[in-house]
Amino acid sequence: MEKMITFGHKSPDTDTICSAIVMSDLQRKLGKDVDAKRLGDLNKETKFALEHIGVQAPELIEKVEDGQEVILVDHNEFSQSADNIENAKIKMVVDHHRICDFKTAEPLYYRAEPVGCTSTILYKLYKENGVEIDKKIASLMLSAIISDTLLLKSPTKTDEDEKAIHELAKIAELDYEKYGLEMLKAGTDLSDLSAKELIELDCKEFDLNGKKAKVAQVNTADIADMMTRKEEIEEAINADINANNVDVFVLAITDIINSNSQAIVLGNSSNIFETAFGKNLENNTAFLPGVVSRKKQIIPVLEKKS
Ligand code: MN
Ligand code: MN
Repeated sequence: MEKMITFGHKSPDTDTICSAIVMSDLQRKLGKDVDAKRLGDLNKETKFALEHIGVQAPELIEKVEDGQEVILVDHNEFSQSADNIENAKIKMVVDHHRICDFKTAEPLYYRAEPVGCTSTILYKLYKENGVEIDKKIASLMLSAIISDTLLLKSPTKTDEDEKAIHELAKIAELDYEKYGLEMLKAGTDLSDLSAKELIELDCKEFDLNGKKAKVAQVNTADIADMMTRKEEIEEAINADINANNVDVFVLAITDIINSNSQAIVLGNSSNIFETAFGKNLENNTAFLPGVVSRKKQIIPVLEKKS
C-alpha cells in the first residue's frame, strides 16, 4: 500500500501549501505517516514564507493512483483537485469552501468550517488533540491565515482567525503585522510574469446558469502600475476566452494596501458582470471599492444576478 498523502488545490496558494505541510505534521504526531504534496508551482508569496520559515516545499504531483489514500486540505471540488481524484480513497477533508460535486464510496472524516482559512481549523485540531505546536508549524499556519485574510482585512475573516493569528504569532515569535505585510508584498512582484501567466496565477472556473465564467485575481500594492499592462493583459484574456469558450472572464486586480479592486471584464457575456454589480464597464474596466474577496464579494454577486 502506498503511503497516505495530503495536498491542497491546483494553482496552489499559501494556505494550500502551508496547510498540507501542517496536516502531515499533525498526522505524524498522531502516529500516522502522511506525506505533503503539491499540485503546481509555488507563487512568490508562498516562496517568501517557506524561505523565511526554513521549510522545504512539498513534492510536486499531477495525478493520484487508483486507490491511493489521500487527505484533502483547502478544497473539495474535484475540478480543483489532482487528476484521477475520483478513483482515490479520500480518508479526510479539512476545508473552508462551499461543498460542490463531492462524492466518496466510503465513509470519511469531513471537517468544514466557515472560517477565513484552512489553517485556522488545523490550529483547532492541534488543540483538540492535545498536540503541541512547534515554532515552524506555528509560522506556517500564521502565514496561511495572513494570506487568506489579507492580514485580517478581508470580509472572510472571522473572530476565530483573529484569535488564531494572535496566539500563533506568540508561538512563532513573529511580529505578524510586519512579517505579514512583507509576505503579501513579496507576492505582488509580478513584473517577470507574462500576461498569460499573470491571468493564470490564481484563476478559478465557475458555471453561471450554463455560462462559463472564469474569475482570476492578482494582488498588487499599486493598481495604476498594474494597469500600465492593460493592453497585453486584455490580449491574454481574449486568447483564453477564444481557446476555452469562456463566456465571461473577470480579472480582479486587488489593492492589498487600500482594500479595493479594479476589475477587467471581457467576453460575450460581460453584461452578466454589469447587471450583477450595477455598473457599466468603461474600457472593459470597473472599480470595485472595498472588494477584496472573490469567494465572498465577487462569486456570490455574479451567481445571484446571472
Ligand atoms: Mn486556497
Ligand atoms: Mn484557504
